[in-house]
Amino acid sequence: MSTTPLHHQTLADLARGLERRDFSSRELTQHFLDRIQRLDGGLNAFITVCADQALAQADAADARRGRGEAAPLTGVPFAQKDIFCTEGVKTTCASKMLDTFISPYNAAVIEQFNAAGAVMLGKTNMDEFAMGSSNETSFYGPVKNPWDKTKVPGGSSGGSAAAVAARLAPAATGTDTGGSIRQPAALCNLTGLKPTYGRVSRWGMIAFASSLDQAGPMAQTAEDAALMLNVMSGHDARDSTSIDYPVPDYTANLNDSLAGLRIGLPKQYFGEGLDASVAGVIDAAITELKKLGATVVEIDLPTSHLAVPAYYVIAPAECSSNLSRFDGVRFGHRCEMPRDLEDLYKRSRAEGFGAEVKRRIMVGTYALSAGYYDAYYLQAQKVRRLIKEDFERAFEKCDVIAGPTSPSVAFGLGEKQSNPIAMYLSDIYTIATNLAGLPGMSLPAGFTAQLPVGLQLIGNYWSEAKLLNVAHRYQQATDWHRQIPADFA
Ligand code: GLN
Repeated sequence: MSTTPLHHQTLADLARGLERRDFSSRELTQHFLDRIQRLDGGLNAFITVCADQALAQADAADARRGRGEAAPLTGVPFAQKDIFCTEGVKTTCASKMLDTFISPYNAAVIEQFNAAGAVMLGKTNMDEFAMGSSNETSFYGPVKNPWDKTKVPGGSSGGSAAAVAARLAPAATGTDTGGSIRQPAALCNLTGLKPTYGRVSRWGMIAFASSLDQAGPMAQTAEDAALMLNVMSGHDARDSTSIDYPVPDYTANLNDSLAGLRIGLPKQYFGEGLDASVAGVIDAAITELKKLGATVVEIDLPTSHLAVPAYYVIAPAECSSNLSRFDGVRFGHRCEMPRDLEDLYKRSRAEGFGAEVKRRIMVGTYALSAGYYDAYYLQAQKVRRLIKEDFERAFEKCDVIAGPTSPSVAFGLGEKQSNPIAMYLSDIYTIATNLAGLPGMSLPAGFTAQLPVGLQLIGNYWSEAKLLNVAHRYQQATDWHRQIPADFA
């Protein structure tokens, strides 16, 4: 029996411990609920903690194991981003708009974790409607970075990132529209993966920008991310953009040799704007990958500089349409004593949405308006095509692309709040993959000034298993991913 504290163990370790009956799911779940109660006050990672429901799920998991019917993750506790509809549980998307919304149904991702027999500890904080890179736009207040509570955890999946980094949960889900799994994973020292667009069902996942949104795992290791992706992947007829493509066992090829792997280094990802100390950590990580047998080749992504501008037309355009359903009638907060219908719409939306969400709705509505559609939205879609073609050419020369996830380590709370453009640039290396629909991941690569740095890997369509293989081999040779913030050890 392992003497390692439960919260120092990976999902894979915990699954083995449950299998050996070293501990029950109830003991394991109680351990994490106790940690949340003791430690989350200083972090604000959770919006809702589901203690009673979690313990009931744990008992059901223990009974299922007793019947010999356990699946690999049966009885393992997770935290779920509060963007996934959860039946009978408050689902807010961190907005006042949905502060009292109890979902009548489960999102596909929640169904999948339930079918696996997993336990849900609670719902994690995030940027409002997933719009942000710092988790400061939440109606429920900012999340603190467990590595330094004066810093942001990244966003929009900042609550999930902080919860796992502080080991209040062994792993969590996130969603990534422009970097919201990878950037907080980088800033909190986690392994996060955004799958190929269409890999994971978006059904019941509150929509931000539908052509970009994808859910994925935020975990301690690549092996754990693979275990989660096994549960989350697959076709769902209820999501018209879900793709019917075979789901491999993502744990099967983790140990494949990296000999001969061609890693492409985009020259645009190592230039101006990249913090020098982050660049140093990334260079060392690439040297490590070369020791494992990889070769490197410089690649050119000439339209990289257009990714952020195109995204900030396309994402707001889609969000202005998606968020029109929150009108105080069909969904969402309703103002007191409306004078008439127009007053009801106006005041409900004015009161329910925060400043960043309003900014995006206004930009998006403008970009889609009759007189400006061609100049902005259509133009951005053309740029999107060029970005996709850049990657297609690059993947003729390499198998995987590597570079930094974020141009800097975690920045100070409040530091970029008054400057949206500076905030938007923190996703400069992650956004292009969403525009192209490609899978990408971030993994712990080292520290500078005692804050974590993430290495980003981008793969061709459906190459999640390859990305996880590269990350796993790297994690066998390094121990950055095992580092836990001192206050939460
Ligand atoms: N930070 C980006 C934005 O604000 C990406 C957010 C996301 O991936 N959900 O839109």
